Amino acid sequence: MPNAAPSMVVKFYGTRGSIPVCSKDFLEFGGNTSCVAIDLPDKNVLNIIDAGSGIRTLGQELMAEGAKFPEEMTIGFTHFHWDHIQGFPFFPPAYMSDLKINLLMMGRNSDFDRLKKILFDQMGGAFFPIAMGDMGANFNFISMKHKVTQNSTGMSVVARVHSHPGGALSYRIERNGKVLVISTDIEHGETIDQRIVELARDADLLIHEAQYTTEELVGKEGWGHSSYRQAIQVAQMANVKQLIMTHHDPSHNDYFLARKEIECQKVFPNSLLAREGMVIEL
Ligand SMILES: [Zn+2]
Ligand SMILES: [Zn+2]
Repeated sequence: MPNAAPSMVVKFYGTRGSIPVCSKDFLEFGGNTSCVAIDLPDKNVLNIIDAGSGIRTLGQELMAEGAKFPEEMTIGFTHFHWDHIQGFPFFPPAYMSDLKINLLMMGRNSDFDRLKKILFDQMGGAFFPIAMGDMGANFNFISMKHKVTQNSTGMSVVARVHSHPGGALSYRIERNGKVLVISTDIEHGETIDQRIVELARDADLLIHEAQYTTEELVGKEGWGHSSYRQAIQVAQMANVKQLIMTHHDPSHNDYFLARKEIECQKVFPNSLLAREGMVIEL
């Protein structure tokens, strides 16, 4: 339909894996850790995947004068390694006393007591001056099965566990016929994980991590990550339309990533490496 609002607007706020980096060598692809926003513009609903340090920028944008605040906000998590939760204490909307923020735990055996404890512990005792319970916002912890359809927005979400130390979730998000799949912090091992290929089948956009080169991946069994080649293999096997690779290793500077992006595009033309601030409309 011409001029229709996009089904989903995806924006990258954190593209770095493991730890934030900051220097002039990281300005193009960004230094903040994992955070992706999925805006449903026709519904004024905002979904956020992971709360790495990039969520601080997202929060600042939401708080800016004149900005339109979403009516509903949900933060879902792929897993709870530090680079996926460390930005939460610095998310300004979490300090707004009248605001409800949904914190989502999905998947089989989902356990929101665990989510609650992890987030509370991160801000407890010696780690942070403000306890989570004193932040102000009304946190609504939600535990959901591995598949859920949100009636109010027509969005359906499927979560699937993949291999990563401690476990992590990939998500397939569908709305109005558009399909977004996010799979980060995934270790395929010897062969590509077929469960993720199936999850990503015919997606319009696959966001897949690529922390290492094929050479760097050697000797890193059990570290929980993928190579560029593996991300492209998943995209090819699943027949996805567009691939964006993220969770850049902290040692990979702009020069390295720009060259790597060109190499990847020779194999999978409709691919990009994620840049902080990048926006994709679906
Ligand atoms: Zn990570
Ligand atoms: Zn991780």
